Amino acid sequence: MAAKKAPEPKPAECSVCKGTGEVSRTVKVGRKRRTVGRQTGFCLNCLGSGEAPN
Ligand SMILES: [Zn+2]
Repeated sequence: MAAKKAPEPKPAECSVCKGTGEVSRTVKVGRKRRTVGRQTGFCLNCLGSGEAPN
């Protein structure tokens, strides 16, 4: 009787970017820190991998 293969464990999703590896952030410029728009940047929590760091 062959042992059933366990499914590959999925890596935990990063809670910050929800596994996308990207987060949107507001872009601010100048001394007044005026918000000029939004930009997508890579997630600093998982460093863009989308997987929760250990
Ligand atoms: Zn992340």
